[in-house]
Amino acid sequence: MTRDDALQLDAQDPLAPLHELFQLPEGKIYLDGNSLGALPKATAERVRRAIEQEWGSDLIESWNKAGWIDAPRRLGDKLAPLVGARTGEVLVADSTSINLYKVLHAALSLQQGQRKKVVSERSNFPTDLYIADSVVRAHGGELVLVDTPDEIPAHLDERCAVLMLTHVHYRTGRMHDMALLTRWAQQAGALTIWDLAHSAGAVPVDLLGSAADFAVGCGYKYLNGGPGAPAFVWVHPRHHGLSYQPLSGWLGHAQPFAFSPFYQPAAGIQQYQCGTPAVLAMTALESGLEVFEQAQKLGGMAALRSKSLALTQLFMDEVEARVPQARIVTPKESAQRGSQVSLALNGDLSGAAYAVMQALIARGVVGDFRAGDPRRLEAEPHLLRFGFTPLYTRFADAFDAVTQLADILATEAWRAPEFQKQNKVT
Ligand SMILES: *Cc1c(COP(=O)(O)O)cnc(C)c1O
Repeated sequence: MTRDDALQLDAQDPLAPLHELFQLPEGKIYLDGNSLGALPKATAERVRRAIEQEWGSDLIESWNKAGWIDAPRRLGDKLAPLVGARTGEVLVADSTSINLYKVLHAALSLQQGQRKKVVSERSNFPTDLYIADSVVRAHGGELVLVDTPDEIPAHLDERCAVLMLTHVHYRTGRMHDMALLTRWAQQAGALTIWDLAHSAGAVPVDLLGSAADFAVGCGYKYLNGGPGAPAFVWVHPRHHGLSYQPLSGWLGHAQPFAFSPFYQPAAGIQQYQCGTPAVLAMTALESGLEVFEQAQKLGGMAALRSKSLALTQLFMDEVEARVPQARIVTPKESAQRGSQVSLALNGDLSGAAYAVMQALIARGVVGDFRAGDPRRLEAEPHLLRFGFTPLYTRFADAFDAVTQLADILATEAWRAPEFQKQNKVT
């Protein structure tokens, strides 16, 4: 493939107009939308209006007049079609970590103490494991961590309460078969919790079709809600009114403005709200979600998925053809791949991944670095991570990123001292 071929793919791309909806700095190839999504152009104006008009002028009236109070549900409704949920089923609130705490407690309480084992992957995103560890301690349960996905079925037994997985793995980009694993878990009497941090807005998700039990996910990655944007939570309607989340704040009450001294949970997903929403952050996320309404007109998640697969395929093909020093860690089978590609460096270069990423960033190709497990670097190497957000990434971006990577490795430009210093956020 040549650069002209990549430009040709961009010229034929039906989703190309969406690129214009984002403010992307000239000369930068942004491949980190899986960590912090780019800024939609409409967001600054929306947030300015929320500050100056809604807050500055209308003040407290905006809770009703601007619909601040309904934002968690309104945003949830905008998000619902992206994850295969229906109107009224998704709530936007708090962070992914906090929502995970809520649903883990809820799921364990549904098992009524009969089953206490929570099964997850050792390489799951650490916050998921830390929260699960805390919750199983409170329930007197046990957290069982598998090293590879094929070990999961053996742990789906009569003691298993919850199977808690991240749908698309944050390190490798490997995607689980949600419907299949949910079925296996439920056949064993377990409930499922899916973390959609790297799925929502990146790959089609069908929570209802998979009959999943609970899901949480992130607002600042592929949903482009801005740094620290609120997260979301979904609970299958069959558990509404039966499962209880422990953060029983006033806005999850059936009648918050009755100011009753007694807690009575709201019906449905509303119970999963705890306190007052961060309205300015919600405003930015709402603008991010509205980009998907534009995308819907151009084919929606199905079109985004096919572009995402084409982008990651192009990137992997070019790496294989032009970067002999790297190997692809992400599954090559499209059904098992999310919207990112992770690379490890071969042999003596394996420890240079951080410096190589710094050198790439200095040249305007922004991905990130994820440290491997020092005790088992063979199985979990240091990674160069590249996220492909189909809303705004172009085929030429994927092509050019490989050109820079190949050059940095061939010239050993990464050896420069300024690339060796480790930052706080990698
Ligand atoms: C990004 C991410 C999180 C982030 O959690 P926060 O509470 O927003 O910090 C959680 N889980 C997974 C799998 C993630 O990828």
